[in-house]
Amino acid sequence: MSPTLAIRSRHVVTPRGVEDAVVQAQAGRITAVTPGGPRGPATLDLGDLWLLPGLVDTHVHINEPGRTEWEGFVTATRAAAAGGVTTLVDMPLNSIPATTTVAGLRAKTTAAEGKCGVDIGFWGGVVPGNARELVGLAAAGVLGFKCFLAPSGVDEFKHVAEGDLREAIPVIARLGLPLLVHAELPRALDEAARGSAGGDPRRYATWLASRPRRAETEAVELLIRLSRETGCRVHVVHVSAGEAVPLLREARAQGVAITAETCPHYLVLAAEEIGDGRTEFKCAPPIREHENRERLWDALREGVLDLIATDHSPCPPALKEPASGDFMKAWGGIASLELSLAVLWTEARGRGFTPADLARWMSAAPARLAGLEGTKGAIAVGHDADLVVFNPNAEFTVDAARLRQRHPITPYAGRRLVGRVERVFLRGECVFDGVEFPGAALGAHPGPHQR
Ligand code: ZN
Repeated sequence: MSPTLAIRSRHVVTPRGVEDAVVQAQAGRITAVTPGGPRGPATLDLGDLWLLPGLVDTHVHINEPGRTEWEGFVTATRAAAAGGVTTLVDMPLNSIPATTTVAGLRAKTTAAEGKCGVDIGFWGGVVPGNARELVGLAAAGVLGFKCFLAPSGVDEFKHVAEGDLREAIPVIARLGLPLLVHAELPRALDEAARGSAGGDPRRYATWLASRPRRAETEAVELLIRLSRETGCRVHVVHVSAGEAVPLLREARAQGVAITAETCPHYLVLAAEEIGDGRTEFKCAPPIREHENRERLWDALREGVLDLIATDHSPCPPALKEPASGDFMKAWGGIASLELSLAVLWTEARGRGFTPADLARWMSAAPARLAGLEGTKGAIAVGHDADLVVFNPNAEFTVDAARLRQRHPITPYAGRRLVGRVERVFLRGECVFDGVEFPGAALGAHPGPHQR
């Protein structure tokens, strides 16, 4: 059978390195990656444009059903496709119901039906008292679990204490799935809140002081202890404090099964640059100082931070408190599915990295976290033909109004970025051609249960 897709680039990112190669696909899967050829008349020749494996974003809040006015499957997956993200994994909170029961998962998958422009998986939630739901959720296809150690921001998704974790973790360890954790401890947050009470809520420094680095490091210490004791795979989401890095390094050197991510905003933005009332920059944990940002880049270079995920977490404009500019009241969350690749490339290219490094952090490593490494995260024979045509030299200015996410709120508005997603293939079908979305609603639920 002749291939349905043949693409040649001088910069194909494969597990072996960057190659001048032709990638062929048939029936949605990659059938050959051939250095030097063969080139037929139907081969799409990209020349110097890069061909990357489709990005896998393991930290996305879609909010549908229940808070669909915040974000939904159609808008989020279009933003994803335009950003080169061909697989995303939805977090178990901010939709109603939360994904903490099998019925909650069914509500999610039903709401997603026919609306997804990219492949989508789901994390289940761990909340106080739902340890008995976890086996059922795993059987129904969740890729792992997520919990909070501090208040999540929504009432229907309660945070857990160590005692709750000690009920849930043995179950998750037996399932062989990862437990993703929002790592800030409430005691340190409460102390800091008392200390910063009375500060001007329009000043970013007031928000920053209320979420100290210590809240993160103490939480990471607890997670290392629990992972060491139980053997459960633990993944720390959105590491923002550089002080967590040596703790993670030491634990991993000792064989503890702990991994960690950071987010584009912690790598690109800095507290010193955030003006009064600019609540589009609010997220938790917070964006910290320049000096801290450099430590996160070093940790990525070293491999102590495994991956980058967006924590795409939008809300309606009014919840960002634009009129008051009150950081303490505004919803915390930054939506960056569409921009993360360009935002990171703009910053990474001056630090000696190549697009292959971004593919490692944003495709291969997150695919491994989600247990999808057999089909996603690499340009390799047998994998899904999820491919991103990337122009590392094209520049553009971010026009928030043109973003595909539901609401045009972004801290990157007006920024000059380098690196454009030119075309995206999902299982061999073009789902983004640089402007339009020809393959609407082709997304499916990837997962070990499917194959
Ligand atoms: Zn999140």
